[in-house]
Amino acid sequence: MHGCPSRGRSVLAEASCSEKFGFEPRFCTELRQHYYDRSAPGECLIKLACTGVCHTDLHAKLGDWPLKAKTPLIGGHEGVGEVVAIGANTAQSRINIGDRVGIKWLADSCLNCESCRKGREQNCPDAKLSGFTVDGTFAQYVVSYLQHVTPIPDGIDSFDAASILCAGVTVYRAIKNSDTNIGDWIVLPGAGGGLGHLAVQYASQMGLRVVAVDSGAEKKELCLQLGAEKWIDFHESKDLVKDIKDACDGLGAHCALVTAATGAGYQQAIDYLREGGTLMAVGLPGEATLEASIFFTVFKSLNIKGSYVGNRQDAIEALDIAARGKVKCHYVVRGLSDLKDIYEGLEKGTVAGRVVLDISK
Ligand SMILES: [Zn+2]
Ligand SMILES: [Zn+2]
Repeated sequence: MHGCPSRGRSVLAEASCSEKFGFEPRFCTELRQHYYDRSAPGECLIKLACTGVCHTDLHAKLGDWPLKAKTPLIGGHEGVGEVVAIGANTAQSRINIGDRVGIKWLADSCLNCESCRKGREQNCPDAKLSGFTVDGTFAQYVVSYLQHVTPIPDGIDSFDAASILCAGVTVYRAIKNSDTNIGDWIVLPGAGGGLGHLAVQYASQMGLRVVAVDSGAEKKELCLQLGAEKWIDFHESKDLVKDIKDACDGLGAHCALVTAATGAGYQQAIDYLREGGTLMAVGLPGEATLEASIFFTVFKSLNIKGSYVGNRQDAIEALDIAARGKVKCHYVVRGLSDLKDIYEGLEKGTVAGRVVLDISK
């Protein structure tokens, strides 16, 4: 135990975790009273069981986004744990001590601005972002916000829920807002990846016909098993645009959901979408630009839409679908103490699929 010196609320995070970015976790056990004495109304203290690791955590560390993270910072934004304390003078809360809750990227928003009122809480000018502008989940304890934590339904394991809170919510909302109907074709570049394999499942559940685009026998098997109707290996394809169009009745896709962190996949989508189709841009490359043909965007009546994570309702819906066994995240479990290794792996590109950390290890 390293003690809980009384220097205000930042002490809590310091006691529960790290120097920077969640490395070298240290643990503190006597947090509850300390927290209660120092917390603001509407906050809660969560004892974490697990947390997902996401590519966004690497962007936070590298600082390669137009948006900058606070420093020092405890990263992480896909945590699941138990509420162990609620801030003093909190008026009322649907969340109680002992509840199992999730922490997503959007830690808090004002709920009163135009974006919040219109259900785009993630675009709130006062949004707090877990593991980016406020300390995140690479810690034993985290302070979060009662109005934004997500209740975890019974019937889903905490580890299974972790990545749904970020990757799952992100692709779920994007598909929901993609102007597609049951029976429409959706193309998923990177379908075998962390976001992609969840998108395959959500899209199938929503009655869409999935064209999975990725490479390698292993990913092919995974995508087809998860519900993709067609598979295209981009390494084997000589003309990807033609192959995708052919797969979609020869006319092209109704929707392309692009999660890539480079620009190329976005441009290509303009070419293989059918008339009236929608490009859903979901990846967050720091600098790439989208150079779409204005002529064909107009001539084909295309829609180009951005979709950024999700709001409270999206998180509840995405988790509910997973809790009913319709969507399952594939991940490997590591310990919180492996975090430094994992960051190095993310940087080198050697981490395949999603990782969920066991906080007790
Ligand atoms: Zn994430
Ligand atoms: Zn707001």
